[in-house]
Amino acid sequence: MNLAERTDHLRSEGAYAVLARAQSLEAEGRDIIHLEVGEPDFETPAAIRQVGADALLEGRARYNPPAGLRDLRAAIAQAAGKQRGISIPPERVLISPGAKPNLFFPTLALVNPGDEVVYPDPGFPTYRAMIGVAGGVPVPVRLREALGFSLDLEQLQDLITSRTRLLILNSPSNPTGGVLPLEDLRRVAALAEQHGFWILSDEIYARLAFDGRDVPSIACLPGMAERTVIVDGFSKTYAMTGWRLGFGIMPEALARRVELLFTHAHGCTAEFTQIAALQALRGPQDDVQKMVAAYQARRDLIVDGLNQIPGVHCLRPQGAFYAFPNITALGRPSEEIADLLLEAGVALLPGTAFGDGGEGYLRLSFANSSANLQRALERMGEVFSRLAKGL
Ligand code: PMP
Repeated sequence: MNLAERTDHLRSEGAYAVLARAQSLEAEGRDIIHLEVGEPDFETPAAIRQVGADALLEGRARYNPPAGLRDLRAAIAQAAGKQRGISIPPERVLISPGAKPNLFFPTLALVNPGDEVVYPDPGFPTYRAMIGVAGGVPVPVRLREALGFSLDLEQLQDLITSRTRLLILNSPSNPTGGVLPLEDLRRVAALAEQHGFWILSDEIYARLAFDGRDVPSIACLPGMAERTVIVDGFSKTYAMTGWRLGFGIMPEALARRVELLFTHAHGCTAEFTQIAALQALRGPQDDVQKMVAAYQARRDLIVDGLNQIPGVHCLRPQGAFYAFPNITALGRPSEEIADLLLEAGVALLPGTAFGDGGEGYLRLSFANSSANLQRALERMGEVFSRLAKGL
């Protein structure tokens, strides 16, 4: 069929594709441990579910403003500003069904056909997808393991041209778990000022950071709030993936244009879910702290276990819930190794699901029980020792 060229580059997310294959193996009776999907394994905290259910029963399921409920925008402006040490006017906040519309629509509003957009490689596949739909030219910049999976700043400098319109950052990163250090953000900010490009800063994992670390936002640096779109949401922090709740924070003129795109694309975000989000922000945060502590313990379990397997080397992620082990010593393409592991009952993603820069790596989500992670490590150990013996 002759479909619009601006959609020709679109591919599924690797996680959905592997999940489908894993489920068909399960239908044949196989036991599969699921480390492919990036989703908290916790329930949404009970108080949030209760408030959402009550709001639904009270009939809070009508159209509401495209930018979101006024109270929730104010609460987000307050909480997100406090977290990042900046002051955020509520007019700059746009609520969306999931974080994804706040990635997609600001990109559509900023990027003209032929503009260059620099994005992290390996990186979240939606970035490449939305750049293409906007008619932008995708320009991947490498994240380097030797730099703790921060950006290759030398390469970044070389990639910037007079057509560079936007740079996408994601810290903590999916798929590497790396956090961009403040000194690197300072250098990126200087480049953005000098060359006049925008930043789209995907901070959806900012509160899932380990070892008591604070994740710096580029928006805190002088002048940067005027050229930055912060993207964040409730999916990961509050285990609310299926509620579809995210937000963007951006300069007012851009926010008003993106609001129009929301108006004509999805209209608004559900009302009762936004009321539940108010509870998430205003209520006690102990559930978030408990979840982060659990992820951190699982991180240590999986990283220590992976590093005991000959041929595997895994940096300790600083945030999010992904491990990104280096498997280059095994001498086989990531996709082949991921296939072998799926056959052995461990579903995970080849690093190449996140771009060419992911070759030589695997991505495992450790948002799973310690018992399952332990079983997955055993299965991986067996497969890798067979590989090492050349079997
Ligand atoms: N950004 C990143 C880096 C993600 O990993 C995800 C979810 N996998 C999203 C954005 C999208 O979040 P949401 O489900 O809230 O749309």
